Amino acid sequence: MEMLFSEGEEIKRFVLIVDDEYINREILGNLIKDVYNVIYAVNGSEALEIIKENKATLSVVLLDLMMPEMDGFEVMQIMQADEELKHLPVIVLTSEKDAEVKSLKMGAADFITKPYGSPEVIRARIERTIELSEDRNFIEATEKDPLTGLYNRAFFYEYAEMMDRYHPDIKTDAVILDVEHFHLVNEIYGRSFGDKVLKIIGDTLQGFLSGTEGLACRNEADTFYIYAAHQDSYEELLTLIQNKLSLLSRQLHIRFRMGVYSRVEHELSMEERFSNARFAGNTLRGNYMRSIAFYDMSLRERSIFLEHLVNDIHQGLEQKQFTVHFQPIYDISGEEPELSSAEALVRWEHPQYGMIRPRSFLTVFEENGLISMLDHYVLDETVKQLGVWRMTTDLKIPVSVNISRVDLYDPELADYLLEGLKKNGLSEKDLMIEITESAYASDSTQLVEAVERLRSNGFLVEMDDFGAGYSSLNSLATMPVDVLKLDMAFIQKIHEDEKVKRMVGLIMEMAEFIGVPVVAEGVEIAAQFDLLKEMGCRYIQGYYFSKPLPPLEFEEYAADLGL
Ligand code: C2E
Ligand code: CA
Ligand code: CA
Repeated sequence: MEMLFSEGEEIKRFVLIVDDEYINREILGNLIKDVYNVIYAVNGSEALEIIKENKATLSVVLLDLMMPEMDGFEVMQIMQADEELKHLPVIVLTSEKDAEVKSLKMGAADFITKPYGSPEVIRARIERTIELSEDRNFIEATEKDPLTGLYNRAFFYEYAEMMDRYHPDIKTDAVILDVEHFHLVNEIYGRSFGDKVLKIIGDTLQGFLSGTEGLACRNEADTFYIYAAHQDSYEELLTLIQNKLSLLSRQLHIRFRMGVYSRVEHELSMEERFSNARFAGNTLRGNYMRSIAFYDMSLRERSIFLEHLVNDIHQGLEQKQFTVHFQPIYDISGEEPELSSAEALVRWEHPQYGMIRPRSFLTVFEENGLISMLDHYVLDETVKQLGVWRMTTDLKIPVSVNISRVDLYDPELADYLLEGLKKNGLSEKDLMIEITESAYASDSTQLVEAVERLRSNGFLVEMDDFGAGYSSLNSLATMPVDVLKLDMAFIQKIHEDEKVKRMVGLIMEMAEFIGVPVVAEGVEIAAQFDLLKEMGCRYIQGYYFSKPLPPLEFEEYAADLGL
């Protein structure tokens, strides 16, 4: 069928008139043919054929009820039962009052009474019906996310505000649910599996909210927003989702991060409320023990603190407020523990806040890219310090530095390192590179390349915080590393939790199998040390031996050991 355009490029819509009586078709057709492209059918079955063929272009069907062969009711019945046809609006042409009610019940959009009255009225009814149906299609297509059936964010905010207006007395919560490393699910199991996961989450949320005023939306692939009547706990909801997901696959282990802004203040805009929820959720980044965080005011104060740090970093670097501390690492495989290397850890001597440890600012600096400046500063300082020790002392041990993901992807990193080492009379053997395991969860091919680049230049690469992350076993299989650093959380429980102990034993066996030595960090007490030694762990780092020390103290520490 050819599309016709009337003056002004307005599209002339297609209208099907179904009537067995020639004269009725003619009258009605003539009334509207200036405005519409009119097609005719003489009975129900012919009408259905035309409807099926032209379902994409037809705007409305004007349907006579009394016809031989197949009457109008039957046509409507068939259309209603067909997913593809039921949205096409039908206007019934009838002379009987009873039939009007019946046909409206059967899904007719409107009716026009015979004999035909004013042409203006008829045209207006047709136009209105088309407008309504097109609007409805438009709304359905845009306000809901087709995958999960949840609202999109813009509509969600609108309806959430409406909920407040209608129920101003209900205490409400703003909640954001993030799927951690969702892209990995897609990467490992495939997109359609990923879609299933999202759909299950969406369905569970809908089930959770059904019967309440609450509503949910999906935002940016794997983030869900919930606005609901206040609940004291969201553990149950999270467990419910986990249970539903475990039906999908037993191996599947998906972690969630849920930020809750409880009993929202109505003075805040919807955006602000959810920004608070997001804020709470973000405090869980890298925290593998907890999945739910509640917003409170002190968090806001923290955010102001972090804002200050971001503002102050440039000056801090210029004025050398940052220093590198060194923490000894011991080889315990022999008779006596032996100092074998050290880890460089940055400290910020802030003029206002005093000494700040990196945990407080790392996430922010990673998010805004400032970490790169800091890492380069730490690298420069570390290599300089090593060069000085090489010249003035007997200290020859290599030092591990922590490199954040941003810098790791820099193709010039290896060159930068080699140059700095050379300038200070050192080589690639003097520096080891620690990469935090959570970095392994991101784009793995890019990461393998980055790691290989470093290794092919002679650097040893260490996988930091192993076991804390998302895909430990997975990453061990695919990632070419030289050293495994066991996450501190294991070590701190190893002497009191049999399960943790067995887990560490397992990891140790695996590491031995692929020929990679293990560093246990965060070893604080003899009980931990003894166990690890017994299990065959080769390297130990932790307060058991020493805290990270400023350069001068580390120098004295080493001198006392005869180095
Ligand atoms: P990490 O690489 O896991 O470093 C070990 C952390 O454990 C250090 O915290 C260290 O001081 C602490 N630690 C060592 N032994 C013990 C112990 O026996 N008990 C306890 N409770 N803690 C112990 P720190 O210095 O606060 O550093 C935190 C994290 O910041 C580091 O974790 C590392 O990921 C990151 N980081 C430190 N310096 C840098 C840097 O220059 N660049 C980058 N990108 N990250 C850095
Ligand atoms: Ca480290
Ligand atoms: Ca670590």
